[in-house]
Amino acid sequence: MSPDDKKIRTGRVLNCHAPDAVSAKYRGKMRSCKEYFMCAFVIPSGVEESLFRMQKVFELLAQDRQRSRWEPSDVDGQASEGSRAGKRVNQTKARRGRLTTGHGVIDTPAFMPIGTQGSVKAVSPRELRELNAQIILGNTYHLFVRPGLDVIKHFGGLHRFMNWDGPLLTDSGGYQIFSLAKLRKISEDGVHFQNHVDGTPAFISPEIAMEIQAALGSDIAMVLDECAPYPCEYNYAARSVEMTTRWANRCKRAVEANASPARTVSPANPKTAAGTAATTTRQLVFGIVQGATFDDLRKASAQAIVDLSFDGYAIGGVSVGEREEEMMRAVESCEPFLPDDKPRYAMGLGTPPQLLEMIARGMDMFDCVLPTRLARNGTAFTARGTLNLKNAEFALDKSPIEENCACSTCREFSRGYIRHLIKAEEILGLRLITLHNLFFYLDLMRQARDQIDNRTFDEFRKSFVANYKTRNGIVL
Ligand SMILES: [Zn+2]
Repeated sequence: MSPDDKKIRTGRVLNCHAPDAVSAKYRGKMRSCKEYFMCAFVIPSGVEESLFRMQKVFELLAQDRQRSRWEPSDVDGQASEGSRAGKRVNQTKARRGRLTTGHGVIDTPAFMPIGTQGSVKAVSPRELRELNAQIILGNTYHLFVRPGLDVIKHFGGLHRFMNWDGPLLTDSGGYQIFSLAKLRKISEDGVHFQNHVDGTPAFISPEIAMEIQAALGSDIAMVLDECAPYPCEYNYAARSVEMTTRWANRCKRAVEANASPARTVSPANPKTAAGTAATTTRQLVFGIVQGATFDDLRKASAQAIVDLSFDGYAIGGVSVGEREEEMMRAVESCEPFLPDDKPRYAMGLGTPPQLLEMIARGMDMFDCVLPTRLARNGTAFTARGTLNLKNAEFALDKSPIEENCACSTCREFSRGYIRHLIKAEEILGLRLITLHNLFFYLDLMRQARDQIDNRTFDEFRKSFVANYKTRNGIVL
């Protein structure tokens, strides 16, 4: 097998999910067997070509099956009956998928814990693996400001620097520049800003954003976009969408200009890569749809970004202070214009019920600071809503944060003990809640995947949302 062949087979969306054809129990095993076969044996050269042709045929078959699986579909048993009666009720666009990157496969719907400064706050990569995190997110802006690219390059990229060998997504840095940096000046060229740590002036352009992410070596890079503020005037949002499209085009051209060999991701374990000394995989690039709260701008942005053809599509500028209905409508406005065979990433979302609502609207990937941020003030997620463990009511409570939760915190510690740690400002307290909260989010996605496979997602969503209590009118 030539290195080129290897390159063709990896680093793209593999449309190989077929819940009807293969049960969930065996699907992962089939793939891992294939990989094991391709990686672990030395195959005589005569046999190799025919084996490889066979594998191609299987991949094409798998892709054909998957194409229909990415179609929006009813997942609810009652809905199917309704459809037969000519009335489609309980319809949902929830879907399953698999995304292959240079550092592994991500089953979607997926939640991405946020590693802001090259670390998911208070959690080690070993613990993330134990939590079954499939992919984590790194914030380009923070890493660019501190420790800086030279340091990360010195350590051989972000994976090696932080010792995370799984898939990694980096944002473009744009969102933090708009929300954190001082003295921003946005122009067609890019953004001049002073960083929020020591005020050092810097400039980021679409080309520079892609260059930085190439240096970080993430598996998925995001284009530079302008996240319009909320509320936002129509005319500003319209101009912003047009500039975001032009920036996306520049990002795409910058990536193509540096396509090989620099813009590749080192594999997790080169030694196992089919006997070749080093195999690299192309960094995937996702486009971002903007358009604030305006339906026509969301649609226009989706069409323009999709025309540029990216590996996946994100919906940005949501969860920026708008009402929940506006957030849902923003996603509904652009979703029909996103291709079925590419992953969709709803950026910066959300509460547990919001994640399920987004999945029902055809979204596949999510990132959110809530599980880690709220843990730091003593707030834990449960299926019935959040608990503030600082409250006096938990002082003598011997039960775990959530009964039947399989996380290490709930297996080992009581609410009363964790409350004491938080009140005493012991680091362990926030760590224990963080571990539980991340487990809760990741496990919610696992349940969503299983429910989609079983065609019971819509019942699951409705029951979860109904049981999840809001506090002070805020869904958290
Ligand atoms: Zn737990």
